Amino acid sequence: MSTLLVRNIERLATMDDHRREIASGGLFIRDGFIEQVGLSTELPSTADEILDLSGHIVLPGLINTHHHFYQTLTRVVPAAQNSNLFHWLKILYPIWARMKPEHIRISTKTALAELALSGCTTASDHLYLYPNGSKLDDEIHAAREVGLRLHASRGSMSLGESKGGLPPDSVVEDEDEILNDSQRLIEQYHDPQPGSYTQVVLAPCSPFSVTSDLMRQSALLAREYGIQLHTHLAETKDEEEFCLELFGHRPVGYMAEVDWIGDDVWFAHSVHVNQEEIKLYARTGCGVAHCPTSNMRLASGIAPILDMLSAGVNVGLGVDGSASNDGSHLLEETRQAMLLSRVRAGMMGASLSGEDAPPLMSARTALEMATRSSAAVLGRTDIGSLEPGKCADFFAINLHQIDYAGALHDPLAALVFCAPRRVDYTVVGGKMIVKEGHMETVDEQALISQHNTLANQLMVG
Ligand SMILES: [Zn+2]
Repeated sequence: MSTLLVRNIERLATMDDHRREIASGGLFIRDGFIEQVGLSTELPSTADEILDLSGHIVLPGLINTHHHFYQTLTRVVPAAQNSNLFHWLKILYPIWARMKPEHIRISTKTALAELALSGCTTASDHLYLYPNGSKLDDEIHAAREVGLRLHASRGSMSLGESKGGLPPDSVVEDEDEILNDSQRLIEQYHDPQPGSYTQVVLAPCSPFSVTSDLMRQSALLAREYGIQLHTHLAETKDEEEFCLELFGHRPVGYMAEVDWIGDDVWFAHSVHVNQEEIKLYARTGCGVAHCPTSNMRLASGIAPILDMLSAGVNVGLGVDGSASNDGSHLLEETRQAMLLSRVRAGMMGASLSGEDAPPLMSARTALEMATRSSAAVLGRTDIGSLEPGKCADFFAINLHQIDYAGALHDPLAALVFCAPRRVDYTVVGGKMIVKEGHMETVDEQALISQHNTLANQLMVG
C-alpha cells in the first residue's frame, strides 16, 4: 500500500461529468488509483509521498489514439517532405523494410518519451511491418521500461504490389502467420482489467494494403477475445478512388461489407466521410482518431470534426506517425485540432459577426477530445478524467512562465491557445514519469544518441 498526496494545485481540471475546475485543488492517490479529488484543505494532510504543485495546472493525462512509433526514425526524410500519402509511402516503405528489432525498441522509447513530455499517459501504437525478425513484443517490452500505458496494435499488410496493393511484396506477410501471431499476442499480453498497462488491438493497415479476407478474419478473431479493431480509413481521395474501383464501395461502405462497424472499432483519420457515414459512426459507436497535423502535412484534407461531435461520434486525438507530423507532442496536436477546425469553419462560411456563423471549436472541446473522448475511443472507462476510482494519470504545467504571461484569466484555455511547451510533471498510475521537465524512466541524452545512430543506419541502407 502506498499513498501520494498532490496538493496546492493552482487549477485542477478534472474533465469529470461536470467538468469541474478546482482552484487550490488536490488529489489523494492510493496504489495508483485516485481516492479523493477536491480542495487541498479537504484532503488528508499526510501521505507516503507529497507533491506540492503550487503555481501549476493539472489535467488528466492526455491519450493518444493513433501513432506509428517506428516512424520517429524517419522524420523529415528529404525525398518524402513534399509528397502526399501514396507517394510518401512508396518512398518510405523500402527504408522501413531495413528495420531490425533494435529499431523497434529504441523508437518506441523515443516516441513514448516525447509523448510523456507533452502530457500523454496512454498511447495506442499501430505497428504494421515486421522486417528482419521484428515483433510487437519488442515494442511492448520497451514501453514497459518507459512506464506509459500502451494499446499495442498488431498491424498487418498482406496485399502487395503484385496483387494490386500499394506496398512492395517484400514488406507484406502471409495471412495465416498474421492471424497466428495475433492470437499469440492477445493470449500473452492483453490485460482488460482496470489500470491495465498493456492491451492488444488487431489492426490490418488500410484498405489498400490488406485483403478483404484478412479484414474479416481479424474481426472474427478480435470479437472472439473481446478486443478492439483499428485501421486507417477515409484518409485521402486516392484511397476513396481505390476502394470504389477495387471493392465497389466508398471506404466506410467497404468496412460495413467486411464487418468492421461497431463500438469495438476505431478508424484513424476519416477525413473524407459524408453526413450519412457520420450518422452511421454515431449510431453504431465507431470511434475516430483525428490526426490534424498529419492531414495537413500530407495535404489529405480537413476532417469534419465538429459535424462528428454534434452527431455524437466519439472522436479522440492522435499525433499519427512521426514521418507525417513530425513530432509526438499531444498538447500541440490538441491546439492543431482546434485551429484546423476553425479553418474549416471559415471555409464553410463562418463570419466573425454573423449570427448564422457556424460554431468554432473551443479549447475545452479540444482538450475533451484529448482526454475523456480518447479514452472512450480506446474502450477505456478507467482513464480520461480525474475522479475517485480512476487511474492516477495526470500531467502538470507551471503556469508562471513567459509562455502564459497575460493569459491567466483562463489557465485551462491558455494551454491550448498559447504555444505548446514541455510539461513539468507526468504521472502514470501514481508513478512519476516526468519530473521537473525531465524523464525519470529513461536517460534522454543516451536515448537520443542511440536513436540518431539507428536512424542514420536506416537511411544509408
Ligand atoms: Zn497512421
